[in-house]
Amino acid sequence: MEVKDLENTQWDLLDLGKEETLEEDLATIKKLASEIESQKKDYVSAISMEKFREIFKHYEDILVALSQFTTYAYLKFYKNTADARAQALTAKADQIEAEIKNKILFVELGFKEFDDKNAQRLISASLPYQHYLERLRELKPFTLKEDVEQAINIKDTTGISALISLYEVFTSDFMFDFEGKKITKEELVKFVRDPLPEKREMAYQNLLGRYQQNKNTLSLMYQTVANNWKNEMELRKYPSPLSIRNKRNDLYDQDVEVLLKVFKKNISLFQDYFKEKARLLSMKKLRRFDLYAPFRKTVKHYTFPQAKEMVLASFQPFPEFVQYASAIIENHLDSEPNPGKRGGAFCHYPNHITKPYVMMNFVGDVNSVRTLAHELGHGIHAMLSSQKNNYFHYDPVLPMAETASTFGEMLLLDFMKKQSPELIQELTLGQLDDAYATIARQFHFVLFEKEAHELIKNGGSREDLEHLYLKMLREHLGDAVDVDDIFKYEYLYIPHIYHTPFYCYAYGFGLLLSLGLYTRYLKDPSFKKNIIQIFSAGGNDTPRNILKKAGIDMDEEFWQSGFDCLQELLKEARNYRLDAAESSP
Ligand SMILES: [Zn+2]
Repeated sequence: MEVKDLENTQWDLLDLGKEETLEEDLATIKKLASEIESQKKDYVSAISMEKFREIFKHYEDILVALSQFTTYAYLKFYKNTADARAQALTAKADQIEAEIKNKILFVELGFKEFDDKNAQRLISASLPYQHYLERLRELKPFTLKEDVEQAINIKDTTGISALISLYEVFTSDFMFDFEGKKITKEELVKFVRDPLPEKREMAYQNLLGRYQQNKNTLSLMYQTVANNWKNEMELRKYPSPLSIRNKRNDLYDQDVEVLLKVFKKNISLFQDYFKEKARLLSMKKLRRFDLYAPFRKTVKHYTFPQAKEMVLASFQPFPEFVQYASAIIENHLDSEPNPGKRGGAFCHYPNHITKPYVMMNFVGDVNSVRTLAHELGHGIHAMLSSQKNNYFHYDPVLPMAETASTFGEMLLLDFMKKQSPELIQELTLGQLDDAYATIARQFHFVLFEKEAHELIKNGGSREDLEHLYLKMLREHLGDAVDVDDIFKYEYLYIPHIYHTPFYCYAYGFGLLLSLGLYTRYLKDPSFKKNIIQIFSAGGNDTPRNILKKAGIDMDEEFWQSGFDCLQELLKEARNYRLDAAESSP
């Protein structure tokens, strides 16, 4: 089907700003920043409650105005990355943002400096900002003296931050010879999903071979990242490397330990799935090269209006979902693929006042419809949480941020399975593939990081790291999958473990939470209101408390219910038969 037949839709950015008045908007932000700066002298421990609330509200207004401006610039740029004017505007937005944030830095830093008694007095008088202020104070024991923090900041720009940029620049410059052509990493990686087994293997050999060639440099970079993380942990007196990340995610160490424990118990679920996958693809056993082997897809096409109708119909049991999704689709969604437009899809919610924006490239296949439901789910989450929250609380912390999006997808998938029984196999197998990539693979990275940081602390070498990675990957995939030696270099290829250590568990957290909530909802439709309550909370409390208030304990039993839901899907998959002609050619 021609792209022009898909009746795609475009957004307008009027809610963020107008080209003609951008300079005025900027002048307003600068004025607000100068005004708050002039209040700096009154910003002391003994400050009155009224004055404190006034300054904090002022601070919030600046952040909102700034987010409008930077979002306008970036959305314009993503719509057409070749637009020179938009490029210049993003550079300007970055510069203004840094400048303004420097001016208002004192609000948070100063608050952390206040003595405990006064801080407590101000927190109890600042109800709408309470959780945010409490979190700032919680970081106080891990915050060093101002001059030390400044020195770390300065040294980081030429230290760890520079090293990570170096890693990005160095690895993104990699070019690969593939079938007589020079191609980029992004182009090469597509072939790990090729229907032909030889091509998948060749893609991996080529990709990881390049990391192998550079193993000394890249491993040294990784060891430096781990050492830097350890130094910060010791300087700031965190109990463990993982707890630095947990604190930033507003989670207790215990919450994450329980989750990892339940994951380890359920690892055979994914191994069993790969055995089924081998059967469905008529292979004796999968190799690590085959994990992303595709199942043949139905050739099914939807126009954008058809996709929209399907998604809205699937959201029907939740009237709020329909209402907010419709509002976004109306004029804040850009679905049309165009030359120069950024690839992929995202939902951006700049603040609690502006309706979220969704960008995607709708090409009319089943995946595009899923993406629509996913990104609208993010938007619904943001709109629900914006009803009651301010700028500091509307945004869910990372582990919670993928809950409504994956929940929206599940509503859609169940709806589609009922509507189009011929799609059931494809959709279910797609869900299992996704669950592996989102849950198991991500937890595997975090479990590796835990061991690797320990190993590096104890003077482990490059070879030790390679050995560790390969050993853990083989344990992870068990006897279901053969793992070639080339995969010992895979850890050099995972950008997250360089730029955001221990980040990856957030993906699995979100999907499992969503599965757990969905299971509860299927058993008891009145649980709907609890789900709305969770999404409406945004980030106004710790995930543990938000869930607790909605009747959920983040304990082993709850996480297990998420895995049980996947176990049900696997049970269905065991009955599937794909004709030879239907599977990979
Ligand atoms: Zn998402």
